[in-house]
Amino acid sequence: MEANFAQILEKIQAYDKIVIHRHQNPDPDALGSQGGLATAIRAGYPEKQVRTVGGAVGDLDWLNQPEEVSDDFYQGALVIVTDTANTPRISDPRFDQGAFLIKIDHHPNDDAYGDYYYVQTSASSSSEIITDLINASAGQLVLTQEAARVLYAGIVGDTGRFMYNATTAHTFNVAAQLVSTGFDHTAVSENLYEMTLGQARLQSTVFDQIQFDGQGAAHVVISQALIKKLGLRDDQVNSIVSTPGRLKGVLLWSLYVEKPDGTYRVHFRSKGPIINGIAKAHNGGGHPLASGASARDLEEVQTIIQAMVAAGAAYQVTPQ
Ligand code: AMP
Repeated sequence: MEANFAQILEKIQAYDKIVIHRHQNPDPDALGSQGGLATAIRAGYPEKQVRTVGGAVGDLDWLNQPEEVSDDFYQGALVIVTDTANTPRISDPRFDQGAFLIKIDHHPNDDAYGDYYYVQTSASSSSEIITDLINASAGQLVLTQEAARVLYAGIVGDTGRFMYNATTAHTFNVAAQLVSTGFDHTAVSENLYEMTLGQARLQSTVFDQIQFDGQGAAHVVISQALIKKLGLRDDQVNSIVSTPGRLKGVLLWSLYVEKPDGTYRVHFRSKGPIINGIAKAHNGGGHPLASGASARDLEEVQTIIQAMVAAGAAYQVTPQ
């Protein structure tokens, strides 16, 4: 059922063991909201046992590292999942093994899992929601410098450095509060935006090979052969997702990244046309202007490209 901050804080107070999950292929907001919440609970309740779980974090190990948690630990534990819209994307399938489950997220609530859920789609990020939760707790949860550091990284990551339209005056106020704790925010931004040489060469490939499909739509296909040639891990390819949007005239765009099994991970971004319906039609989902999906082959890729062109055309006739 839908819950408010007071109800969630009551549950945090009531449980001695708490496990915090997030989504697979974590981005800074997944790790920031997960780690920020864990750190704030530990600081407020040193006697509680708090764990963060999930798989590999790629280049984001400076944000949060998953911990080993035994199956036994879940007995009688409170489980909180941050930043994850649907259960198949939760990293670590044991999320349903605890005594009580809470979802905290900012994606559309298509899968309202959990005994409690708190979903605010107008929030820039799950990290912004966690900061609001800490502020609502009247000292029960504590905004340490470390909690602030990772929450700030989550907000910067999900707003594209305060650029995307979900960035509000409240987002800036929250960011100012986090920075006022005194962590090194320059280091956070440097960590988030530095590139390996392989990633820089991938950027140049995007500009070199981008296809303009018409109606403001553009796309790029990245092959496994290129990823291998540049010496990149699959998660490092995420650094190019926002790049096409920098080109004048591009209103909506999609990237098709070939996986080792020959299928494609699809990234959708838009400056106006709603694109999460297209993502949902291809085994995915996400926000109205930022979504993900998968395509089994280049034929499905072509189908998606046509849907993007149609979304661009519909928008130009009647901007939503
Ligand atoms: P990405 O392009 O991977 O950065 O994802 C953009 C947004 O879409 C994120 O908020 C993801 O949580 C969401 N998303 C990506 N892939 C999927 C998927 N397969 N199912 C549901 N949501 C997704």
